[in-house]
Amino acid sequence: MSLAVQTADLDVIGAGFVHLDYAATAPCVRAAAEAVNALLPSYGSVHRGTGPRSQTSTLEYERARDVIADFLGCRPGDQVVFTRNTTDALNLLARALPPGTTTVVFDGEHHANLLPWPNQLRLPAPATPEEAVAAVDRALTDLRSGSGSLHPSGAGFGGARRGADPSGAGFSGARRGADPSGAGFGGARRSASPSGGRQSGPVLLAVTGASNVTGEVWPVRALAAVAHAHGARIVVDAAQLAPHEAIDLREIDADYVALSGHKLYAPFGAGVLAGRADWLDAAPPYLAGGGASAAVGDEVGDVRWQTGPARHEGGTPNLLGAVSLAAVCAALAATDRTALHDREQQLLAQLRDGLRYVKGASEVTIFGPWRARVGIVSIALPGRDPSGVATRLADEFGIGVRAGLFCAHPLVRRLTGATGNNGCEGGLLRASFGLGTTPADIDALLAALHAILR
Ligand code: PMP
Repeated sequence: MSLAVQTADLDVIGAGFVHLDYAATAPCVRAAAEAVNALLPSYGSVHRGTGPRSQTSTLEYERARDVIADFLGCRPGDQVVFTRNTTDALNLLARALPPGTTTVVFDGEHHANLLPWPNQLRLPAPATPEEAVAAVDRALTDLRSGSGSLHPSGAGFGGARRGADPSGAGFSGARRGADPSGAGFGGARRSASPSGGRQSGPVLLAVTGASNVTGEVWPVRALAAVAHAHGARIVVDAAQLAPHEAIDLREIDADYVALSGHKLYAPFGAGVLAGRADWLDAAPPYLAGGGASAAVGDEVGDVRWQTGPARHEGGTPNLLGAVSLAAVCAALAATDRTALHDREQQLLAQLRDGLRYVKGASEVTIFGPWRARVGIVSIALPGRDPSGVATRLADEFGIGVRAGLFCAHPLVRRLTGATGNNGCEGGLLRASFGLGTTPADIDALLAALHAILR
């Protein structure tokens, strides 16, 4: 198959203003819209009828699953479960964990990949990719041996801060070299201690593929390798990675991946959890009801549940969501993603360089390192309320960005050096982009910031 740099299928729909908030929700591309339009005249209920509409819909729904499995490099036997979004996908996996599973997370995660996990060991976000791998290695070693400085209860906001320097240098903005306590987990918190000390049950490492705050790409391949070396599994929150980089489960050797259609240029309402089938097939259904049940007896609790994805897809499936998401995946798979990546890096460089010349630029702090980043840039403008700046960008210049804490409160607190659960007030200002973003969009943002800060 010959790869196009970018086909018309990936043209973004809609124009007229500068949208730089892709990390929240990306605009829809033509492939998705056409997939929806093609089905509108003929859709029916999936898996529930014998009529032609229903048959077509069932075929299209299952075909969408296959397309997404290919797009994600699923292995034979892996499952693709349709969910509402990434949050839903990660909650589904959290509910499907075998009893006694310990989960390990960094505290720089989006709340969707922080809050669902039970029996949680929370590690401070590391300063570099190497530190990330070393921290996980240490944590898993200590978990298995029962040694290390586990805190018996880290309820609430876990993860010790590693310093208040908002320089942003280093992995997820964590300050390199700060809090070098080294021993044990160096500030790890544990929500509950299911087995007291030594952990003999399953362990799941939950990591983001790319930060929604700093855009930083995490070393998921290396983290998967270290997790597997300890007999643990890994799930990658690819909500922000998937729109920017190709993901191949076989290549990165991750066990699970979760993503959202609305960040991947499809309409709202469909997400995916893909990966190993065994835990999913053994778990209680995520959504009990029709579709998830194969046979229901007269007695309470007399139910035989489906195996396979249907077990967790109770209720009438979101056909249009699944099919439009698959259409985007197919279009992206037929595209030269390296060329898209290079184009995005040029836009990033343009924004980074341009920010230096914005009036008062010495005051602007850009968070996160530049070594591996998707199209996401968060900045702080001292003395300025980010939401006020965002409102002016929208009202006076027609530019959409996002202000706030981006559902990553512990990380934004650390980046800004704020303390306390409600610190860092207005948070940061974030510009994020992808397909459809032009150099003119970046220039418009820079010029508008210049005018506002003047
Ligand atoms: N993970 C990351 C890294 C995200 O950026 C987001 C959305 N901002 C989510 C998870 C949750 O995605 P959704 O709201 O689509 O469930």
